[in-house]
Amino acid sequence: MLYNDDQNDKVYNEFNKPKKSFQFPKIEFSKPLDFFRKIKYKANLYKFNQNRDKANNYTNIVRTNNNFNTGFSSTDNFAFSTADTKPRFNLMDKFSNGNGINTKTIGAILIVVAIFIIIYSIVMPTRLPERSSMAEENPSTVPETTNETTNTTVPDVPVVAVETTEMVTNHLSLSAHEIIRTSKVPKQNLNIKDDIKNLYYKEERLCYLTFDDGPSESITPQILDTLKANSVPATFFVVGRRVEQHPELVKRAYEEGHYIANHSYTHEYSSVYATPETPWEEYLKTEEAIKNALGNSEYNSYLFRFPGGSSGGKYNNIKAQAKEIFEANAVGTVNWSSLTNDAAGANTSEDQIASLITSAADDTTTIVLMHDANDKQVTADTLQQVIDYFREQGYEFRNFYDLYQ
Ligand SMILES: [Zn+2]
Repeated sequence: MLYNDDQNDKVYNEFNKPKKSFQFPKIEFSKPLDFFRKIKYKANLYKFNQNRDKANNYTNIVRTNNNFNTGFSSTDNFAFSTADTKPRFNLMDKFSNGNGINTKTIGAILIVVAIFIIIYSIVMPTRLPERSSMAEENPSTVPETTNETTNTTVPDVPVVAVETTEMVTNHLSLSAHEIIRTSKVPKQNLNIKDDIKNLYYKEERLCYLTFDDGPSESITPQILDTLKANSVPATFFVVGRRVEQHPELVKRAYEEGHYIANHSYTHEYSSVYATPETPWEEYLKTEEAIKNALGNSEYNSYLFRFPGGSSGGKYNNIKAQAKEIFEANAVGTVNWSSLTNDAAGANTSEDQIASLITSAADDTTTIVLMHDANDKQVTADTLQQVIDYFREQGYEFRNFYDLYQ
């Protein structure tokens, strides 16, 4: 009963109901419809009160003008009337009872969180599939993920999935070859000496097919065709000067997932083993030839096979000293544990398989020596039988990317 004049009483009586400001209804989750009905009711009630306040304000202003005319202080009255018409709904009042956060606050927070979750669940699923669908629409960017070889040699393909959309787009703008090439550059392994030694003590039946002395124009393509038809990875110990003659064959082997390793530049014992340093010099020269063949200056094989093996023979002492240089540079040197004897006497497929079975008999993990030089047609002809034999024996084919990841 703020005002006693007729005009105010008339307005007040018209809205003469208990004055209640907006309150959150009691939340009953078992009755969701009741809950929303209550919200609607409370909102209407609040709107109703607001209208009443406006009406009061109007009458106040009228009264103020009257007072002004009758000589009352206009400032006091106007201040009084505006104070009275401030919004009834005060967030801080409603969400706090003076003793910290109350249940109404929790209810409000839950509603805000629920709205956020709904918006998030609508927006996010439309963004995530874009990444995977981009990869599917561009199968050329991950052409060999079903291939046994690249499971071990393209470890960074899955990483694409956690990169930002922008980074994925950058990847996709590269050609397929560029992606494969950067994926397959071996990483130097400072523990390579022990890792190679431990290969022979593995319990697993792993088979490392290796081909020395290439590339050659007549044999290497046949070997690559057979490996490809069987999805078998291998390692090629290439001779530098032959790499310079047939760089395209080295590049093909590399792009088909095989490991390109180093087998000196000249392969002539008198040159390679002239001094303890010459094996390392020929290694470096051949690495350059490989980089040029692949068109990738980042490539380093970090893996050398001494022509004729790393010990024994006329140059045994030179080899022993040379081996220390390779070790000091964390470049691995590897021999073999089984062979088809295609370089010394096994001139038929039967002889080669017989030699292989004999030499590999005691191996769990085995490193097989073969050759892809120009005169090794029998080797090319026998390769399918070699693969079949190891498959029948339960071996899994690997290459040296295993040790350089
Ligand atoms: Zn050789």
